[in-house]
Amino acid sequence: MPITLERRKCLRTSLQGLEVFSRNTGGLIGRSRDISPNGMFIETENPLKPGTKMLLEFKLPNEMIPIKAYSEVKWNKRGLTSEAKSTGMGVQFINIYESDRMRLEKYSKSLNGESSPKEETINSDDFTLADFINISDKDLFAKTKPFWKYIEDYKQKGYYIYRKFLLSASRNRILVFDEVAGKKREVINMGSGNYLGLTTHPKVIEAACKAIKKYGTGSVGSPLHTGSYDIHKALENKLAEMKGCEDAMTFPSGYATNVGCISALVRKGDVAIIDKLSHASIIDGCALSGGTLRVFRHSDIQSLRQVLEDSKEKYGGKLIIVDSVFSTEGDIAPLPDIVEVARQYSAKVMIDDAHATGVIGEKGKGAVSHFNMDGKIDIVMGTLSKALGGIGGFIASSKEVINYVRHYGRSAFFSAALPPPIVAAVLAAIEVIESEPERIQTLWKNVNYMKECLKNLGFKILDSQSAIIPIIIGDDLLAKKMNKRIFEEGVYLSVFPYPSVPRGQERLRLTIMATHTKEDLDTTLEVLEKVGREFDILRRESAIFSRKAA
Ligand code: PLP
Repeated sequence: MPITLERRKCLRTSLQGLEVFSRNTGGLIGRSRDISPNGMFIETENPLKPGTKMLLEFKLPNEMIPIKAYSEVKWNKRGLTSEAKSTGMGVQFINIYESDRMRLEKYSKSLNGESSPKEETINSDDFTLADFINISDKDLFAKTKPFWKYIEDYKQKGYYIYRKFLLSASRNRILVFDEVAGKKREVINMGSGNYLGLTTHPKVIEAACKAIKKYGTGSVGSPLHTGSYDIHKALENKLAEMKGCEDAMTFPSGYATNVGCISALVRKGDVAIIDKLSHASIIDGCALSGGTLRVFRHSDIQSLRQVLEDSKEKYGGKLIIVDSVFSTEGDIAPLPDIVEVARQYSAKVMIDDAHATGVIGEKGKGAVSHFNMDGKIDIVMGTLSKALGGIGGFIASSKEVINYVRHYGRSAFFSAALPPPIVAAVLAAIEVIESEPERIQTLWKNVNYMKECLKNLGFKILDSQSAIIPIIIGDDLLAKKMNKRIFEEGVYLSVFPYPSVPRGQERLRLTIMATHTKEDLDTTLEVLEKVGREFDILRRESAIFSRKAA
């Protein structure tokens, strides 16, 4: 039944004096006077024109999370009528979460003595991780309380995707403890970066065990002091050779590598230029560097050229940093074009080869080999924690650059060097990649089979060129619900909700391994089809989804 003007009037309740802010400007707009199911009347000195659209924010006393409502000014009064004794405007809520509208109404009822406000509960479906970051309060820990309730509700619904404890090694099938079912279960592992299955290769395990016996468990020293062993040098030489560079150095993790390398090289007055979809570690390295950060559209050379042109006179050194394979998209950066334009503007190029190493290029050497660009990329960064099956990160470059970062890369210098068993394991893993090229061939056979089948089933997949296959779902809650069902059916994969990806791009992500059997792949496809049908998301016509066209 439509709500008539009369009915709306009788549904109005008093909501005196609640401050209303604009999310667009951050400024105070005015104070609320009453609220109806459709919107509210705001007393303000400067009523905005009818038709003005804006995002409003209200902060209820004693509640941590502000309420947001996308609204439109419907009418304004300038103190002329008895209805609006004060100047103000009536706004209609165009978009407000039901739970938020109820919070406002509950508060207005409590003001009118109808009931006392109860302890706030949180419906996790209405929030995302982004909602709990910028909550400011004199008590620094105050924000942790609503966040706790959010996570509790999230877990209770069975959507919580983090911290699934593995009870076995990370193979094609893993044993996990399923909190919802309250028991151990074996599931197919479609969520690991162990692309070549090397964490459990007998030669890799044997090398790690031997190193423990010879050197002990940890390196217990910074790499510039007592933390470097002969096998660290051997690994650096091997990584430099793999990436076609003069020298290489390691860091405690891939994350620490980007943070340490970028912040050592880019300083105040310089500029770091990155792709919009860069990994968090690249963004954080730039933030720490003291230089300026500029962003170009995803893999868009025109946009990169524009940023370089704008930066030409403004900055000293320029470093362009891109993922060679993008972790949420699976696509490969257009490196030859990036290098060509970089040279025109005297900019240096650094690539993050985390998901390329062991996967693309001759013998899994990564993006430089894939594009035949030996010696043309200034810095190649990589991680030891994916196809190489260990932990840690590295950069490979000229001997001068490596020498500089060794002494100024704070995340390496001020951290202990990698543990000897890990160094030995990664060295063995690289040897296995070289001596068993069929592993990469099997990986690609599996990837191509899965891409083809998913496309034929009608899933909207991104046109990935790596072992990462993203399935676009386009809705946060739907992605979580689907993931829950997929897990119940025996497949473990990753979900990327907002804010990990932009709204409307929420996705499931499969990472394929060389050790997946045909049976693993077919069972996964059966499960995905079953759940895809349950949620009615299979669309045969538009199976491949290009981000650029979207
Ligand atoms: N760079 C990219 C593109 C990644 O995907 C990751 C990890 O997910 C990292 C860097 C960080 O690597 P690590 O897990 O070794 O810290």
